[in-house]
Amino acid sequence: MENKIYDVVIIGGGPAGLTAGIYAARARLDCLLIDNYGINGQAVSTDIIENYPGFPDGIGGFQLVKNLKVQAEKFGLKIISQEVVFVNYAEKNIEIKTDGKIYSALSLIAASGAKPKDLGIPGEKELKGRGVSYCATCDAAFYKNKTVAVIGGGDTAIEEALFLTKFADKVLVIHRRDKLRATKILQERAFTAFTNKKINFIWNSRLVEIKGAQKVESIIAEDILTSVKTEINVDGVFMFVGYKPNTEYLKNILKLDENGYAITDDEMKTDRAGIFAAGDCRKKLLKQIITACSDGAIAAFSAEKYLDKLKGTEYNKQK
Ligand code: NAP
Repeated sequence: MENKIYDVVIIGGGPAGLTAGIYAARARLDCLLIDNYGINGQAVSTDIIENYPGFPDGIGGFQLVKNLKVQAEKFGLKIISQEVVFVNYAEKNIEIKTDGKIYSALSLIAASGAKPKDLGIPGEKELKGRGVSYCATCDAAFYKNKTVAVIGGGDTAIEEALFLTKFADKVLVIHRRDKLRATKILQERAFTAFTNKKINFIWNSRLVEIKGAQKVESIIAEDILTSVKTEINVDGVFMFVGYKPNTEYLKNILKLDENGYAITDDEMKTDRAGIFAAGDCRKKLLKQIITACSDGAIAAFSAEKYLDKLKGTEYNKQK
């Protein structure tokens, strides 16, 4: 156990956590950011980010998050690579237990993001890493001139399907409805790719099984309207059916919604004094890098105000 109490510990090295770190470090809070990998999050594994303001030609996800890290460290943020396994809450003494140590803090910003959901169908777990993937940016290059299936119809599925067309010969998008959820500009690109025979859609269908001995060989898709099952030969399956929040370590401490997202107010305060949540682990309307950064900035500012009060140094910030 470290023999000190941090003003604030931030959990998570994605855009929300790193932005919170930039603001906390500039506020001269004694601050520590803990993340399994140092930097992290869905943005890191996104090939190109086109909707983050200020980059008219887009910016690589890894580059953007790396820039945030460099910026945070420039202001003095300390970042360590450890996995948080447990948090023990007591007002004015929050203990954060990692796989290596226990840290104490007066306040905590949970910015631990979300991880891809799985479907829990036969073959998925068994063939994970052997044809079943949750990240096209990471694995697309293995599928040069091959056939892959993409499951889902949201922004992630369509963005990743488009990325896969650079490598695979055939990209089959399997969606449980007959309309995509993805934003319109991505839909336009997907339909252009369809016209150019780079993407094929299998509508109103759900994936029921992934088959293969050593690696993925085929999938079974079921037509939801007719219940007819079809076996399709594929070399890879990319699952993009949404995310679930990384909030297991908070479940006995905070109020979470029915899906496990942390519930906060507009100031990123949770129902526990001194604990704030930011980014994709928080229940909110729009999950984007820009809103993650915004949450992080607000959470750090709220933590600063909380600490001012706690330490009896509150002053009128409006002056
Ligand atoms: P999402 O928006 O929740 O979409 C998940 C997709 O998977 C939906 O099409 C959904 O179908 C389908 N799905 C869910 N459960 C399923 C099941 N059991 N079986 C079959 N299909 C299932 O998730 P996401 O696309 O990962 O996006 C997550 C968040 O990140 C969103 O807020 C998104 O806008 C944001 N994001 C933004 C960008 C960007 O701005 N460029 C990129 C990536 C992600 P239904 O449509 O029928 O519900």
